[in-house]
Order: sequence, then C-alpha cells, then structure tokens
Amino acid sequence: MTFSSYIKSWGVGIKSLATGMSISMMNFWRKPVTECYPENRHTLQMSDRFRAVLTMPHNANNEHKCTACGICQLSCPNDTIQVISKTEAAEDGKTKKVLDRHVYKLGQCTFCNLCVMTCPSGAIVFSQDFEQSVYTRSKLTLQLNQPGSVLEKKQA
Ligand code: SF4
Ligand code: SF4
Repeated sequence: MTFSSYIKSWGVGIKSLATGMSISMMNFWRKPVTECYPENRHTLQMSDRFRAVLTMPHNANNEHKCTACGICQLSCPNDTIQVISKTEAAEDGKTKKVLDRHVYKLGQCTFCNLCVMTCPSGAIVFSQDFEQSVYTRSKLTLQLNQPGSVLEKKQA
C-alpha cells in the first residue's frame, strides 16, 4: 500500500463513520415510530377472531357450565386438554359425574378452536387476553375450573 492510498483509506473510513453517526443522531432525536404497546395495553383492540387462551367462564356464584363430558378432550388433536371427573351424591340420592379438574396446557395449544366448537354446553371460550408470557413453562398449565390457578407440571 502506498502512502497516498493509506491516507485515502483513512478519508474513506472517516467519511463512512461520519455518515453512520449522522444517521444515528438523526434517529436519536426523531419521535418514536414504533407501536404504542405497552402504553396502550388497556385500550388495545384485538381482532374478533383472535384467540389468546382457553377459559371457562364462571357466573357470579362461581359456577361454570362444564358437565365433565370429556368431548373437548377427545376433540383436541394434541392432548392439550385433560378432563378429570369425580362422582358426587346428588340431591335425589343418586350419584352424578361432576368436574374435578379441567386442565389446559397453553404451551402446546394450537388455538384450532375445535374444543370450543364441540363443547355441547358452551362451557369454554377463548379470551383475548394476549399477555400470556411467563418465565416458567410449568405456569402454562392451567386449571380452567379454578380461574387464575396454575398447575405445576408434575400435578397435571
Ligand atoms: S384450541 Fe385446539 S389445540 Fe387448543 S385445546 Fe382446543 S382443541 Fe386443543
Ligand atoms: S368443557 Fe365442554 S366439552 Fe369439555 S368436558 Fe366440559 S362440557 Fe364437556
């Protein structure tokens, strides 16, 4: 390399550095153009068809519509749902099958909606609560008949 080409390469390097820095400074002072999330998380409207997490709505008396029939479990293509039932004494003295635990593994759900479509009681629906990230995988195993509860993997 000759002395003149060495000086020339310095010039090219400094020019390129100045160009990069000018672009950086221009963007540094520019107003953000990214999404408003998370500031707008309370007003954010998801599309009607968006499926975030399977839920089992409960009424004011903390009752749900699930009859523990197990159809959603049979409909699920990848074992995301586990319906565990138990028998209880009914008022007429007979025994009846009731739901013990409705276990749903959010981490393996494909959101196909087959479970919701086939439930004869309309007991389960998809919520639009899109913030479902957790630090531990086991927290993605939920017990739907106890909203808010999380089952550790070993229990599910
Ligand atoms: S949405 Fe599909 S994959 Fe998810 S629990 Fe229901 S049937 Fe299973
Ligand atoms: S959620 Fe619906 S399909 Fe599933 S067990 Fe309950 S009643 Fe049956």
